[in-house]
Amino acid sequence: MKRMFICGNWKMHTNRLEAVGLAKAIKGLASESAKVEVGACPPFVYLLAVAEAVAGSDFSVGAQNLYFEPKGAFTGEVSGQMLADCGCKYVIIGHSERRHVIGETDGVINKKVHAAFAAKLKPILCVGELLEEREAGKTEDVVRRHVTEGLKGLSPGQVCETVIAYEPVWAIGTGRTATPGQANDVHVFIRGLLSKMHGDVTAKAVRIQYGGSVKPENAYELMAQPEVDGALVGGASLKADSFSQIVREAARACE
Ligand code: PEP
Repeated sequence: MKRMFICGNWKMHTNRLEAVGLAKAIKGLASESAKVEVGACPPFVYLLAVAEAVAGSDFSVGAQNLYFEPKGAFTGEVSGQMLADCGCKYVIIGHSERRHVIGETDGVINKKVHAAFAAKLKPILCVGELLEEREAGKTEDVVRRHVTEGLKGLSPGQVCETVIAYEPVWAIGTGRTATPGQANDVHVFIRGLLSKMHGDVTAKAVRIQYGGSVKPENAYELMAQPEVDGALVGGASLKADSFSQIVREAARACE
């Protein structure tokens, strides 16, 4: 059974006490519905504390980034093996803030996706267009490039294990959500692309999350779209109440 996946992206927020408190407050959500996987990606430095706080529950822990080399003289970087060692199951790769603020290219992102698998982590590959790209009618071109370049060289089995997060950049942290129809249209496009690349069975197995100002008020309608398999949640994942409501709306959308 393909489970929906609701995952928080805490970005560069929380301190250690807040991170542990939030993790303890939301870890129980992971066992509320068999149809919804629940997780969060805290900052690197709190991963171990969060992993310890959720130990023994079904809550999934992920990181927000990794470096593509397994070890070596790369001051300040963190490898996939280190993340796995801290209890991570997932790692976000190619978030728009890394593409557009830090300047990560599709080539670097693809190397990171391979590095995730080498460390037995599942990548959450973020894809999505800027506002000017949408307005210029380039959404499909951009998403095609992000998906094909990001997944380059993966086996069909690895593609099945990859989570793709469609995050239109104009909807991230802006309060401006894609309409459920706009989100589903791009998810349909991604599913079709995956099908052309790897066949129907693989395409159907891939979970495609939506991300961009998901909140309790819009979660049900977004999650009820046929091709939406979950959400990557930024701002609303920082409060136990709003994140819990989003998870419960997702469970309701699965009924
Ligand atoms: C994100 O950071 O991936 C995100 C979707 O943020 P927000 O929910 O705050 O728009």
